[in-house]
Order: sequence, then C-alpha cells, then structure tokens
Amino acid sequence: MSKTTLLQNGLIIDGTGKAAYCADLLIEDETIARIDAVDPATAERIVDCNGLVVAPGFIDVHTHDDAIVLDRPAMLPKISQGVTTVIIGNCGISLAPVITRTPIEPLGLLGTQRFCYARLAEYAEAVDATRPAINVAALIGHTSLRAATMPDFARAATANERERMTQQLRLAMDDGALGLSTGIFYENAYAADEPELLELASVAAQAGGVYATHIRTELEGILEAMREAARIARNSALPLIFSHHKCCGPDNWGRTLETLALIDCLATHQPISQDVYPYTAGSTVLREDLVDGVIDIIITGSEPYPEMAGKHLSDIAAQWGVSQQEACRRLLPGGACYFQMNEEDVQRVLAHPRTMIGSDGLPHDARPHPRLWGTFPRVLGHYSRELGLLRLESAVFKMTGLPAAQFRLGKRGTLAAGHPADITVFDPQRIRDRATFAEPEQLSEGVRHVFVNGALSYEEDAATPTDYPRNGRFLRRGED
Ligand SMILES: [Zn+2]
Repeated sequence: MSKTTLLQNGLIIDGTGKAAYCADLLIEDETIARIDAVDPATAERIVDCNGLVVAPGFIDVHTHDDAIVLDRPAMLPKISQGVTTVIIGNCGISLAPVITRTPIEPLGLLGTQRFCYARLAEYAEAVDATRPAINVAALIGHTSLRAATMPDFARAATANERERMTQQLRLAMDDGALGLSTGIFYENAYAADEPELLELASVAAQAGGVYATHIRTELEGILEAMREAARIARNSALPLIFSHHKCCGPDNWGRTLETLALIDCLATHQPISQDVYPYTAGSTVLREDLVDGVIDIIITGSEPYPEMAGKHLSDIAAQWGVSQQEACRRLLPGGACYFQMNEEDVQRVLAHPRTMIGSDGLPHDARPHPRLWGTFPRVLGHYSRELGLLRLESAVFKMTGLPAAQFRLGKRGTLAAGHPADITVFDPQRIRDRATFAEPEQLSEGVRHVFVNGALSYEEDAATPTDYPRNGRFLRRGED
C-alpha cells in the first residue's frame, strides 16, 4: 500500500525559475504524484501549506561533508536550512580513494578518521548503510588522487603516476562520481601541470562528468587562473564550475566586474557556471600567507591552542605581544575565517544568472564559519526578501534546478509529477539565517517542513528535530 501526503494550498516554486503559483502537491511514497488541485480525501496525511512556499529540496553544491554525513548523519546544520542533497568532494578533497591516518593538507578539512575507502563504491555503500538524513553525491578530488598515487607533491605527476590517477578516477566515475574537483590553490596540488590536469579532466569528460575547481589564485592573478581552468575544461570538453567564486584581498575588491565579464565571454564557447556563499568572509585552513595584517581574521580552531577558537587573530597577537604572522605560526595547524571579500562583489556574484549557491561549510571546525548553518536561509531572507537582490523564484532556481542541471542529478531539483519527492516548505516572510560569527551554530528560522525521498525528515516546530527517520541515499551521476 502506498503512503500519501498532501501538501495543501502552497505557493509552488518549481525550481525552474518560472513564476510561483498556487496548487496542491501530492507525494506518493518516494515520488511526487501530482501537482494540481487534489481531493484531500485521497491523502493519508495533510500538511497545510497556506502562505508557505513549496520548493524542491535545496542542493548544496559545495560542501566538505564527506565524513560528517557518516559521523553525524542527522545532518542538522543542512536539513534545517532545507537542504536535501549535498555535493561532497570539492576543492580537490575527497575521502576516496585515500587510505591514511595522517592526511596531507588540506585533506584534514575532512577530519582524520575516515580515510578508509579504496573506492568510491565502498564509500557509497557506507553512506547507504548509514542512511544520513539527506542525499549525498560525490566529486572526486584531484589532491586525493595525488595523495593515493604519489610520494611527493611538490612536483607535477610523472606519466606513470598520471596513469594510476586516471585509472582511479575512471573507477570512481564508474561508481557514479559526478566528476573531478581540483584545489590547485593548495600547496599539495599547486605543482600540478596542464598535462596532469588535462588527462584527468578528459577521463571525467568521457564519462559525462563535470570539472569543479578552486582555481590557483583568487587574488591578483585571478583572471589568468580562471583562463587556465577554462582552457583545461575546453580542451577536455568538460563543463566547468568555478568553486566559491570571489575576488580576495582589498587590492582586488571590485574586480568581479572583470571576472564575471570573463565568465560571460567564456560561456559563449563552453559550458560554465559558478557557486558562491553569501558572506564577505572566506574560511579555510590557517595559512600564514593569508595573514596580511589588514583584513580581519577569526580563528575557527587551533590544535595547540583550542581555547583561541572564536577569537580575532589581532587580539591574540596583542595578547601575546607578537605580530599577527607570529601568532598565526603558533596557532598552526588550525582554521580561520578571513574577511577578504567586499559586499558589492558578493552581491554581484550572487545576482549573476550562472551562479549557484554552495555553503562551503566546514563541519569539523570547533567554531565554524556561520555559512555551515546559515547559507540558504540567508540568500532567501537577507538577499532576496530584505535587499531585493533576487526574485524569490531566481533564488530558489540557484539552489535547485540550476545545480541539478549543471551536476546532472537527473530529476532532482525541480518539482514535477514523477520526480523524487525532495521538498522544502518554507515561510517566505519569516525565513532567515541566525548563525553569526559570534554564535555560528544557530538554527535558521522559517524552514517549516523538509521531505527527503518522500519522507518527512525535519519540522521547524518539532521538539527534537533529529528524531525523524533518516531517508537520504547516495546519488549516482545521471540517475533519477
Ligand atoms: Zn575551496
């Protein structure tokens, strides 16, 4: 017997960018059965959606949730924002196919305990056995491929090593990976040359994947770095996704005028998109070269000084009577938020038609950047409703239909009969983020009900939001 839930009288925003309209939506088991006027007598359960938006579940295209979906499968930071699918493996960093207890930088962003999957298929099995609250789809990281096949990262891969990396990537694509990610900004991938990247990109292309890249630099040399990525993607015939697109550093502020113009120009020759998080601070591992004494920096964690998490680097330096660079050295290894962007740039990227939303949240940090808990409600509340930067339908499109199309996630990301019932119901008047740099782990407001593969998985008014049965699964490229 099938199980039916009627979302009655909601404002349907279907994820295609099309204008909202009023209708009922009927969920039957794991699937959307109808969007129409539905006789309530036919449904076992009715959810009154009057005044609420019924949208596809949000797809967080840029995450580092690879290990956390297994270790904290309730995934409260994400499902409470209305996210029903996370794309893992970004910035060159993925668990598979690395086996180690001492991961190289920046793989430690995923913690150190879960590097135990020789193949993506084994990781996928672990996800399905754990059954997290949300769906998981995976990119394979170039730095991880290096870690699995090379003894030394300060140079480009040899022909032999390239062969072993491409073999690993081919297996992962067979196992359903969405594509290849790189993070050649990071030291252990920086020495990769074009033949290395091109060979890997070609393997991902043959399998119908994508190329998501944290480019070599987002500072002064950003245009050249973007052109390098575009060349690799074009020469391997691979759709390109610029990760967390931004212009870093005060000297670079305002230059999204140039970078977005370059994207528009490149897009006439090749498929391109980008993701963004809606904040003026970035966050990554603590790095001395990012400490310029000008921008504000907040420590998100430090192994030798865990008590410094949440403090400003300038205050720590003053307290210790040393320079910020010296304070940084003492705090290593650790993580930080860097206030390195400018608001106009953030808004310009958010408003660009090719931009998707990705949190880039770092769930292993002691005091994570608030983007981990607040990204999606912040776009819908602050940027769409309060500032009017985006129509609500466009904001939803950037979180649903656009990413599903870019990453080839089949029928996810749009509402239509026969599509999987990943659905987020939210209050458009109330939705807002509450996570701040001072209090980063705060639930958002206004996400009313979230369904994952047809199962009610989160409700705002629930006393214990983690008590719902978890119903996420591993998603393979192209499957529906
Ligand atoms: Zn990155």
